[in-house]
Amino acid sequence: RAKADGRGTYRYFETGMDARAQARRILELDLRAALQRHEFEVYYQPIRDVASDEVVAFEALVRWNHSLRGLISPVNFIPLAEETGLIVQLGDWVLRQACMDATGWPDNVDVAVNLSPVQFKNPNLVSSVKAALRASGLPAHRLELEITESVLLQNSAATLAVLHELRGFGVRISLDDFGTGYSSLSYLRSFPFDKIKIDRSFVNELTTRDDSMAIVRAVTSLGKSLGIVTTAEGVETEAQFELLRREGCTQAQGYLFSQPRPAAEVNTMLSRPRARIVA
Ligand code: C2E
Ligand code: MG
Ligand code: MG
Ligand code: MG
Repeated sequence: RAKADGRGTYRYFETGMDARAQARRILELDLRAALQRHEFEVYYQPIRDVASDEVVAFEALVRWNHSLRGLISPVNFIPLAEETGLIVQLGDWVLRQACMDATGWPDNVDVAVNLSPVQFKNPNLVSSVKAALRASGLPAHRLELEITESVLLQNSAATLAVLHELRGFGVRISLDDFGTGYSSLSYLRSFPFDKIKIDRSFVNELTTRDDSMAIVRAVTSLGKSLGIVTTAEGVETEAQFELLRREGCTQAQGYLFSQPRPAAEVNTMLSRPRARIVA
């Protein structure tokens, strides 16, 4: 009887795993089909200069418009796209689309595109970036590429060579989600980043945690000393924005100004002055 129970338990467990593996397989097939069917859409979130209050850039954030499941967040499909390698094709599409969209914006408004560590393993990354610029006619200096520290963890000599090559033809490189993961200040010495994006987890707690305030203060001050632009991510309240302004953070991005919106709404986001909450 014990043996039967054991086997029953084992079978149950196995069935559970099958279901999960099956769901993953379905999502993977879905993802492949979605690329063919053009079910992806690039949304844009404004980034404001803190001192002038002007929109200086938009970050491109991909969405999956699933035929049955509706709009799917990138946190729910980017990891699988990375595991399956599909991110190379998807990332290239986002890059081309973002460069194309940005050519319709004012000349002083840049576009920021996220790059996955997996895209750095592809030998064609530099040529895809060049091709996206050439096809759209967007000047290289209007393109910012956002990478996370995890990019620098893998094969860093080859990665650094790619980053130098990209920067060599005028593209700017931002360090995204700074302060999370395996953050190390030595990354700032290993490559001349143009921008540091302070992770929203610190910005979130600015008014409630002294240690988060201290970290934000240290990073903005570091940025100033090194001549690197600092962007605060996830700014949701006037109180957070005011503290960032006082600390001299260069740029701010977050729901306080706007959520990411479809490309067709960029002009509205540009023309609408920021709603001020008057206390
Ligand atoms: P990220 O690059 O750090 O992008 C910022 C994320 O924070 C976005 O989430 C944005 O919608 C969200 N956000 C902005 N302001 C606020 C705020 O005030 N409060 C809160 N709670 N969230 C805010 P999203 O669009 O869901 O994207 C999540 C992540 O998915 C991105 O983080 C990025 O790592 C990845 N991702 C998105 N698009 C792409 C892409 O085209 N390629 C790659 N490789 N990754 C992408
Ligand atoms: Mg980003
Ligand atoms: Mg980020
Ligand atoms: Mg983030």
